[in-house]
Amino acid sequence: MLEEEGVDALLVTHLANIRWLTGFTGSAGLLVVSRVSATLITDFRYATQAPQEVGTAADVVIDRRNVWDRLTRVLATQAPTSLGVESGTVTMRDAERIRAATSARVVPLVDTVERLRQVKDATEVDAIRAAGALALAALAEVLPTIRVGERELDVASRLEAALRRRGSEWHPFPTIVASGPRAALPHAHTSARVIGRGEFLLIDFGAQLEGYCADITRTVVVGAPADDRQRAVYDLVWEAQRRAREGVRAGMTGSEADALARDVIVARGFGEAFGHSLGHGLGLEVHEAPRLAPTAEVPLPVGAVVTVEPGIYLPGWGGVRLEDDVWLSASGPVLLTDGRTELIELDC
Ligand code: ZN
Ligand code: ZN
Repeated sequence: MLEEEGVDALLVTHLANIRWLTGFTGSAGLLVVSRVSATLITDFRYATQAPQEVGTAADVVIDRRNVWDRLTRVLATQAPTSLGVESGTVTMRDAERIRAATSARVVPLVDTVERLRQVKDATEVDAIRAAGALALAALAEVLPTIRVGERELDVASRLEAALRRRGSEWHPFPTIVASGPRAALPHAHTSARVIGRGEFLLIDFGAQLEGYCADITRTVVVGAPADDRQRAVYDLVWEAQRRAREGVRAGMTGSEADALARDVIVARGFGEAFGHSLGHGLGLEVHEAPRLAPTAEVPLPVGAVVTVEPGIYLPGWGGVRLEDDVWLSASGPVLLTDGRTELIELDC
């Protein structure tokens, strides 16, 4: 990759990239990768942890005073003539520090390590699959306990407790529990709204194992059978999601994958109500490359793990989103979550 980008070395500052390259999970570090070496600079807090996590993946340098001063010294020793930096995440302040630390030509690069991270190995796929199983077990435990008249927050707190009890390292993103008309907000915050009888309840949540995230959405009807309109909208999202998760392939562009679901929804006149993209890559970060979106003209690589999450949102009425996680293996899509998206009408 360094060769492709035409740089002697890359300064990696985005923590998820540092973790992926070295195993280091700390909250502060600078990684210099050249064609012959990798050096992780971190501070006293990680003096024990960093060498344990990193092993032989990089030389670990602990600096008790200032990692940026140490970077100057490391770069002086290595003397690269060109140094790539991660322009998507480096702050302007850090860019100034980097320029002060080296006489090398500083080359802003975009999504370098991120491109490598798209392709998951078996260990990574297994971690995402395990996180998905954990998340779905937690949901199965909580669904029967949901009651008409309780708040969205009550449901979220039981779900988050179940996720942690079952071993999730953390919530990869704030759990979304959105009821009734609030289900029409694609990125709703869980609120104190009281859940009413016969309403949609949209639950978007995840789990994290070994750093790897699962991301799942289910939409259920609470306390009554679905009415005709709920059933019609639900069935349409169900069909679109099914078509996309079964049809998505490595080698398609992100926009071709997106169209698998979008065409179904547009054909039935709900195109305007599906305002977000079909899905995103999943890994150490909950949103990473590649994108499944109408504007994504890059082919999806073999080995990527992506979400498939079409939705229909009707302001003031409600919405439905269904989301599963899919691994794009060389021989076709492999579902990593259970894909059990048949409409559930909770009896409560
Ligand atoms: Zn989600
Ligand atoms: Zn998602």
